[in-house]
Amino acid sequence: MLANKIEKEGKGDHWVKIGVLKGFVDGSLGSHTAAFFEPFTDAPTESGLFVNSEEELYQWVSDADKAGLQLAIHAIGDKAIHTLLNIYERVGNENGTKDRRFRMEHVQHLDAKDIPRFKELRVIASMQPYHAIDDGRWAARVIGPERIKTTYAFRSLLDAGTAVAFGSDWFVAPPTPLEGIYGAVTRRTLDNANPEGWVPEQKITVEEALKAYTSQAAYASFDESIKGTLKVGMLADFVIMDQNLLEIDPVLIKDTKIIQTVVGGNVVYERK
Ligand SMILES: [Zn+2]
Repeated sequence: MLANKIEKEGKGDHWVKIGVLKGFVDGSLGSHTAAFFEPFTDAPTESGLFVNSEEELYQWVSDADKAGLQLAIHAIGDKAIHTLLNIYERVGNENGTKDRRFRMEHVQHLDAKDIPRFKELRVIASMQPYHAIDDGRWAARVIGPERIKTTYAFRSLLDAGTAVAFGSDWFVAPPTPLEGIYGAVTRRTLDNANPEGWVPEQKITVEEALKAYTSQAAYASFDESIKGTLKVGMLADFVIMDQNLLEIDPVLIKDTKIIQTVVGGNVVYERK
C-alpha cells in the first residue's frame, strides 16, 4: 500500500514526489461524459456519468485521508464538482481538522452556488487554463449560453477567495505555462473567434495567473517552503524571458521566448 511505502521510503525527492492520489468522479465535456445536473444542450437525453459511485469515492477519500495521503480528484461537470465538494466536506468533518489540502482537478463547469464552498472547505481548485481556450471553441454548443458563464470561472473563484493552482494537464494539453497564462488572461480561443475573450468576465490578470502557476502550485503540493517564490533558501528554479509579461500586451504573451532556464541554481538551458 502507498501509505506503507511512504512510511518506509519517504515521499520521494525534489524531482519526483509521491503521496498524492488521483481519482475520478466523471469523464470529459468533449465526450459527453462529464456529469451535469441538467442534460447536454446538444444531447437532451444525456447528462453525463460518474465513473465511480459516490459511496465508493467517499470511502476511498476517507481511507486515504486517514492514511495521511493527499487527494487530487478529477471533477469536470457541475454535478461531479458538487458531489466531490460534499464528499470533501463530510470527510473533513469526520476525520477532524488538519492541513490536508484537498485538491479538485479541472473544476471546469461550476454551479454558481458551489463557488464559495471552495474557500469555506479549503479545497484547492487545480485548473488548466489551456483547456479553456481549447474547449471554448465549442463548449457553448454542448452546455448552452447559461452554463458557460461559470465555466473555467477563474475570476469568480479568485474573487471568492479560492486557492487556485494552475498546471498543464500534460499530455492532454501542451506543457508550456506561457500558453496557459495567455489563455487565462486573454481567454482568446485557439480558433481566434473570440478576440475580446471567451466569457471575458472570467479573465484574470497576468499577476494572478503567474501566482497560480508558481506559489499556488507549490502550495498545492505542500512545496511552498522550497518552490514557487524567489527567496533565499529556495531551490532557485526559474526562467529568464525575452519580455516582461507584466508590461506587454497580453496577446503577445504566447510569443515570449525563454532565454535561460535555471534549475536548483544551475543553468540547464541557454538560448543560442
Ligand atoms: Zn483529469
